[in-house]
Order: sequence, then structure tokens, then C-alpha cells
Amino acid sequence: MPDKKINNIGYRPTWAEVDLSNLAHNFYSIKRLASSRVLVMVTVKADAYGHGLIPVSKKLVSCGVDYLGVASIDEGIKLRKAGLTKPVLVLGHVLEKDIAPIFEYRLTQTVSTLELALALGKKARSLNKSVNVHIKVDTGMGRLGVLHHEAIRLVEKVRLLKGVRIEGIFTHLALADMNEDFTHYQIDAFNALVTQLHKKGIRIPLIHAANSMGAIGYSKSHFNMIRPGLAIYGLYPKENLSIHLKPVLSLKTKVIYAKKVPQSYGISYGHEYITRKSTRIVILPIGYGDGYPRNLSNQGPVLIKGRIFRISGRVCMDQMMCDVHDANIKVGDEAVLVGAQGRQRITTEELAVLCGTIPYEIVCGLGSRIPRVYTK
Ligand SMILES: *Cc1c(COP(=O)(O)O)cnc(C)c1O
Repeated sequence: MPDKKINNIGYRPTWAEVDLSNLAHNFYSIKRLASSRVLVMVTVKADAYGHGLIPVSKKLVSCGVDYLGVASIDEGIKLRKAGLTKPVLVLGHVLEKDIAPIFEYRLTQTVSTLELALALGKKARSLNKSVNVHIKVDTGMGRLGVLHHEAIRLVEKVRLLKGVRIEGIFTHLALADMNEDFTHYQIDAFNALVTQLHKKGIRIPLIHAANSMGAIGYSKSHFNMIRPGLAIYGLYPKENLSIHLKPVLSLKTKVIYAKKVPQSYGISYGHEYITRKSTRIVILPIGYGDGYPRNLSNQGPVLIKGRIFRISGRVCMDQMMCDVHDANIKVGDEAVLVGAQGRQRITTEELAVLCGTIPYEIVCGLGSRIPRVYTK
């Protein structure tokens, strides 16, 4: 890590490196899986899965992304305020009293109810504007979306509303990483709906269903737009997929303090780690207050001088300890918590398994206290 970059991370040597050229690699790898007519929406919700909403979105725009997906109006506003002009779909629902910014910032809104569509239409007409919406259909996720046997009726009603344009219709896969039969059932149900709409002469421009796992594993789910998130950030929705993705985020810190402690010495709250012999303990300035999972206490891997050590004792709010035994490790040495050093690598997926969660939660959880450093 050149010191030039350290200079703008503040006075605590803990940072996340985001490799935007690897992000681009992943974008092209996923895009190539689909036919050239298929558009790509990348989901950049939750601060682009912890990678940084604006730098990631700008990079994706330079790569030719067609659409950006966010969770809320607030995330959409951030994109517009940063000068991004690509279409933005708000994937989440919104209270009717909160719809004004959809018009002000030209966002596309997900619609699962007639009530929201009516409110949008009323607002549109009062402003003498129109609004693009995507109808959300629940084919088996049990989250947002009109139940799929009620979808035709909703579409027919929304179509008639002046000021509301149905630009898209979509569904979301619930078991794409674990159950092929159910995934095919969802895709087929959605496909049947689209066919029924065609028969009624209703042609909706954008039809989409595929998250990362759909994009990689189910070409039938591509329709004419895919909607990946995780894979674009170089993380695998499932093990043993044939696609080659490059990790985008690394989490790094430096040894801030080191000392020798005697045998049978308790380390950290609860003394869950007791030294077996006289040894060297190093302190790393990062903790659960940064979103580093406390569940990795006594087990999280730490890569220093090309060697893997384990966190010793409980992860604290701002610090954690690591027994480095007889290794020659000094204050200022880099410690990698996610990413590569020498020939070793710690993956986000591996941390997720260790603490019983999914890689999504690890990267989204990294707090704003950790500066993001962008490399090309
Ligand atoms: C987050 C999200 C995605 C992307 O899912 P990944 O598994 O990260 O690829 C797609 N669609 C919707 C509706 C989402 O909320």
C-alpha cells in the first residue's frame, strides 16, 4: 500500500480498497453470459453493497450499464445529486406521502399495488409530468409484488392511468442458489404471465427476473434485462460456479501496537483466549464498531507478512488482538482481513461461512468509519 493513499484515510490505518478494474471485469463477464440484446441493470443498493455508491455507479456507467437499481428513493436521490443520469429503478416500496422526489429526480418506481399507482398518477397529472413504473410480481418470493395470478388485473388498471407509464415488469427469484425446480417454476410462471399480456396486446418494454444467480445459472431467466448485484462485486452467490469473478473489495489495517505477554495470559473481554506460552500479541485498530463481525472472535483469519494468524479473544468495538507467536511482526506492518497478501488470500465468502452468514451481509455491514480507497 503506497503511503500516498494512506494520506487521505485519516489517522487510523484501517481502510477498504475497492478495485474498480476488477468491478469492470466482473460486469463484462456477467454481461457476456446474456444475449447482446439483453440489458443490464446493476443493483447498487446499500452503498453498492458497501463498496461506495457513487464511485461504483460512475464506473458502471463508463462500462455501459443500462440501468441502476436502488432500494429507496433516498439512494436514487444520491445518484442524481452526483450527476448520474442513467435510469434508476427504486426496487423498494414507498409510502404514498413520500412520492414527490420520484418526479423531481426522475426515478422509476416499483409498483406492487393499485393504491401506489393511483397516487403516482394523481401526482403526475398535478405536475403535468409522467412517471415510469415497473410492476413487481410475486411468483414465490413472498416479499413485494402483486401475487402473480392478480398481476394481469393490476397491469390492466395501471395502464389506463394517465401520467403513469408501465416501462417494466419483474419478479424476484427466492431459491435460485438452492432449488432448481422451484426456480424453474418461478421463471415459467413469470413467462406465462408475459405471454398472457402479449396475447392481450400488452407489450411492456422491460422484462426482468435474474439476480446474480439467475444471470449465471438460468439463461431462461434473462428475458430482456438482467439485474445482478453480488457477482458484479466479485462475490459468488454459490460455490463451484464456472464463471471467473475477481474480488473487488479488500479490507486492510496495520498493526498499531504490539507487546510480549506471559504464559496463561487472558486476552480481551471474557478471557476467551488464554496464551499457551509466553508470546507476542498485536493489536489491530478495527472492531465490530466498523462492522467487522464479532462472531469472528477467536476464529477470524488475519494475514500478516504473508502468513495466516487467527484473531485471539473477542473482537472489541474498535480493536482486536492477534497472537502472532514468534513471528517477526512489528508496529506498522499491514494486516489483511479480506484480500490477498503474498500468495495467501482471505475471501469474504470464507468469513461469511465462519460466522454463519452470507457474503452480502459482510460487505454491506462494513461501516462508514472505514474509508474506501479506489484503485483502478
Ligand atoms: C438485491 C436485488 C438484486 C440483486 O441480487 P444479487 O443476488 O445481489 O445479484 C436483484 N433484484 C432485486 C429485487 C434485489 O433486491
